[in-house]
Amino acid sequence: MYRSLAVPVILLAFACKANSDGTVPSDTTGTAAGPLSTTDSTRGQFVSTAEASPATSGTGRTDRVPNELGRIMVVEYHLLGDQNTTYTRERASFRRDLELLHKRGYRPVNMAQVLDRKIDLPRGLSPVVFTFDDASPEQFSYTEKDGKLEIDPKSAVGIWLDFRKKNPDWDNKAVFCLLSGAASGRSFFGDRNIQNQKTAWRFQKVKWLVDNGFELCNHTLWHAQLSKYPDPFVQEQIARLALAVDSAVPGYKMRSMALPQGLWPKNRALASKGSWRDPKSGKTISYNYEAVYEVAGGPSRSPYDPAFNPLSTNRIQVIGDAIERTMDRLEKAGNAYISDGNPATIARPSTATGSASTTPSAPAR
Ligand SMILES: [Zn+2]
Repeated sequence: MYRSLAVPVILLAFACKANSDGTVPSDTTGTAAGPLSTTDSTRGQFVSTAEASPATSGTGRTDRVPNELGRIMVVEYHLLGDQNTTYTRERASFRRDLELLHKRGYRPVNMAQVLDRKIDLPRGLSPVVFTFDDASPEQFSYTEKDGKLEIDPKSAVGIWLDFRKKNPDWDNKAVFCLLSGAASGRSFFGDRNIQNQKTAWRFQKVKWLVDNGFELCNHTLWHAQLSKYPDPFVQEQIARLALAVDSAVPGYKMRSMALPQGLWPKNRALASKGSWRDPKSGKTISYNYEAVYEVAGGPSRSPYDPAFNPLSTNRIQVIGDAIERTMDRLEKAGNAYISDGNPATIARPSTATGSASTTPSAPAR
């Protein structure tokens, strides 16, 4: 058990008020991930380990020391294919990514859980946020047999579901960053029979993802390089994707957006917040996202880190052994987010022992 470990651990417990309205703490502009101050009045009252409520049970791990100020990997995939390239993950490699992460104690969570500080993993496990950009058919395709649709086992969703069948503690949590009006079939996972994907299946796929636990994210209408365009165009690109998602899943609230090619609009604020008037209906479509994904930058900060800034969320492009290297580096530095299994407490290893630290081993941006 955790308490029997030789390394003393300080459990910093407080009334963990759920951030249900999604507001970002005001102290998000800092750049250093310093140790959590016990006098931080904005974070509630700290109590000692003895006062903390018992940890939740579950299939956790006792060999990993909890640290909920550690870094979280937000991994980034594009295409899936027959070989590994910069923007393509070979299918067997993708499957191995899932196996490796699972074996090392990582479990998928949605970005909404990070934003809401509801990473409800058993003790000793680490969250990982999967993001899939561009909505290509390789990520989610159907095959049709005798008029019945089946999820293509060769698509990312198919591989994911097969892995989940064998590992039931691998939840359906991943963020799909969508395009709705892109060329080359990258419009809601393929249309116009591109890779045998019918236009009529598009909304069905998007709804299936939501109904089955996955999360949707805005990647603009057709992947425009937002840095090149004037403000109204930027807002139209983002708002029109939001409108299309609302047609597929009425009332669904997206929480995040991914910058195409990581390029910010000239007016950066428009990436997360803006509006556009639809000339067809005369209605104004507004958007307000709590997280904006960069294309790179390394592991992301914990939502309990005072410098957590989801409006610039770093990601790890899954190229080669990027996942394994990042895990090794974070774990060696004692800087991976590892859950304590108790939603009411925030745990981090004591820096006094010198055995672990929450100081990042490399700059995050
Ligand atoms: Zn993209």
